[in-house]
Amino acid sequence: MTAPLLSPARQDDDPDAALRPKTLEEFVGQEAARANLRVFIDSARLRGEALDHVLFFGPPGLGKTTLAQIMAREMGVSFRATSGPVIAKAGDLAALLTNLEAGDVLFIDEIHRLNPAVEEVLYPAMEDRALDLMIGEGPSARSVRIDLPPFTLVGATTRQGLLATPLRDRFGIPVRLNFYTVAELERVVTRGARLLGMGIDPDGASEIARRARGTPRVAGRLLRRVRDFAQVAGASVVTRAIADAALTRLEVDSLGLDAMDRRYLTMIADIYRGGPVGVETLAAGLSEPRDTIEDVIEPYLIQLGLVARTARGRCLNGPGWTHLGLEVPGGDPG
Ligand code: ADP
Repeated sequence: MTAPLLSPARQDDDPDAALRPKTLEEFVGQEAARANLRVFIDSARLRGEALDHVLFFGPPGLGKTTLAQIMAREMGVSFRATSGPVIAKAGDLAALLTNLEAGDVLFIDEIHRLNPAVEEVLYPAMEDRALDLMIGEGPSARSVRIDLPPFTLVGATTRQGLLATPLRDRFGIPVRLNFYTVAELERVVTRGARLLGMGIDPDGASEIARRARGTPRVAGRLLRRVRDFAQVAGASVVTRAIADAALTRLEVDSLGLDAMDRRYLTMIADIYRGGPVGVETLAAGLSEPRDTIEDVIEPYLIQLGLVARTARGRCLNGPGWTHLGLEVPGGDPG
């Protein structure tokens, strides 16, 4: 199991809803994505048309759902949300699509996990705004075409490459979301503290931001845990010392890595002498699904430069050895 505290995946008690920005202006960071969306939204509104289909891709917790909701709000249309694994049959998707009203945003999270029969229904829906339904069975079966209202499909996936090419090609607007900088996360933390009604000074916010794995969802979660800690300690304002003490107690290290990240790094260092080692081997050794390793654990470690993905497998870089407190083999600085 991944230690839940730093997992960017959504958890039931996350303060997601309370902290969600409601407008593009309130949404921190992701400047390029925001600027592009602004243009697409404004031009669609000027033309009085539905927005083109949008695909968000990037690690969990970076704001894909939030942006989809903001798009619906800015377009003044309803927001319907579902996810790939939830739509079991083609008929489930057909029911969702026929219930849409003109301009609505249909958000499909984890769209790479749609089953192929459902995907087949989605293609004409996205391209021609039509649904091809089979009526009856056997020799008397026939296909009828039902027109759909213009709608916007917003898909979210952790990696663009997981999507079948025909599906990927049907999105007019692909948008990549990146990890946030510490400065951006400081703004997320400060804003979150204000919304949660807690006192925090700039150094306290910066300490939480540095250790939030580049991910606003993790920042929100750490903020809440630090608040608990501050309350019990009787502190009305979160300072760097309080944030540091709380996060250290929660086993979040100075780079924001948790026990699972460290197990991953230690396994490559100790057992595979720095690699290369295949991801399947690591998944088996850590008893984690390969997807979790690739979508949740690795992106941030790669971003920090601790690990590299090579054709022959994963390798520990110099900073990875150093972070574990080990000597870099052969003095290679990575
Ligand atoms: P995803 O769909 O990519 O997993 P979400 O949109 O659910 O991520 O965002 C997770 C949490 O992080 C939410 O609480 C949201 O309010 C917060 N969040 C995400 N992006 C931002 C941002 N740019 N500014 C402020 N808060 C954000």
